[in-house]
Amino acid sequence: MDHLARIRGLQAALAGSRLDLLLVTHLPNIRYLCGFTGSSAALLILDHTAVLFTDGRYTEQARSEVKGANIVIVRKAALSAAGEWLRGKSRLAATRPNLGIEGEHMSVAGRARLTDSLGGKFRIKLAPALVETARMVKDANEIGAIRRAVTLGASLFETTLKVTGPGVKELDVAAEMEYAAMRAGAERMSFETIIASGPRSALPHGRASHAAISRGFVVCDFGVILDGYCSDMTRTLYVGRVSREARDLYESVREAQQAGTETVRAGIVAEEIDRQARNVLKKAGLGRFFTHSTGHGVGLEIHEAPRVASGQKDVLKSGMVITIEPGAYVPGKWGVRIEDMVVVTETGCEVLTPTSKELVII
Ligand code: ZN
Ligand code: ZN
Repeated sequence: MDHLARIRGLQAALAGSRLDLLLVTHLPNIRYLCGFTGSSAALLILDHTAVLFTDGRYTEQARSEVKGANIVIVRKAALSAAGEWLRGKSRLAATRPNLGIEGEHMSVAGRARLTDSLGGKFRIKLAPALVETARMVKDANEIGAIRRAVTLGASLFETTLKVTGPGVKELDVAAEMEYAAMRAGAERMSFETIIASGPRSALPHGRASHAAISRGFVVCDFGVILDGYCSDMTRTLYVGRVSREARDLYESVREAQQAGTETVRAGIVAEEIDRQARNVLKKAGLGRFFTHSTGHGVGLEIHEAPRVASGQKDVLKSGMVITIEPGAYVPGKWGVRIEDMVVVTETGCEVLTPTSKELVII
């Protein structure tokens, strides 16, 4: 990963904004910019330099991981330490510069501490999502890492199929999958595994529970983190004899997922994918049961920009990685979701998730 180029790119974006410097506090953004993976840090981006503040627990780790930024080991919270460091730069402070902060990732208390430490010499401004914008387009190294995460994640579905059956607890299925993930080398799961069976399949985010699996759909949504990058996929199984109605529901969602995927290419607006997927479900009379957006970006975080939803005007670019995951949920009865990850290309997209979308019946 070329961290120095990322920091340079951000400095160029800053030069074109009303901000003079930027204090990055969101850890995935810090990791993206300079490679640091510790759990406590602040990264200050100045005109021509970058400085990472972290504490003594991370001295060795920072030395080995950080690229493109100077390291300052501090004895107090990184945020206050960064503020005091800035306050000591009298030439810079004399101009009362605009210091951008990541408002989405700073607590009210954190902001108050930062204000105190700056001693009134800097104007704190909410920064636009500059790093998140840069992170949307993945470079070849990142796509390689995501590909490996997707492959490992998809391999867990074999375990799902092996252990799922009538009477088995949802949590036991999730536990077996997570054990297999760790054994296969995953750092951890990218979110809490969703195994939602029977009427619980109508809960789009039905985390695995103590419920025993019975006849009906089982929504399985899971992913792993490998080299910092996330995977995310959903398949829906059916336990028992499938009715015509159940199969029709499944096929409608599958068609919607396909319509969304076929819409993807560089140059289109994100909401168009949502519209095309949603149209299929509307035509099947299922529009009101599709209660979430069609997809999201995936990378260092499981949910990141761009959002693939109604009203989202981000124009897709080659190298963005997004999910396509329509679903239909009939409250109290059942639900289906199918989710793949894709990389946007100039002419369409490459589907990363290798797993078949045929309905699996157990
Ligand atoms: Zn998912
Ligand atoms: Zn997802």
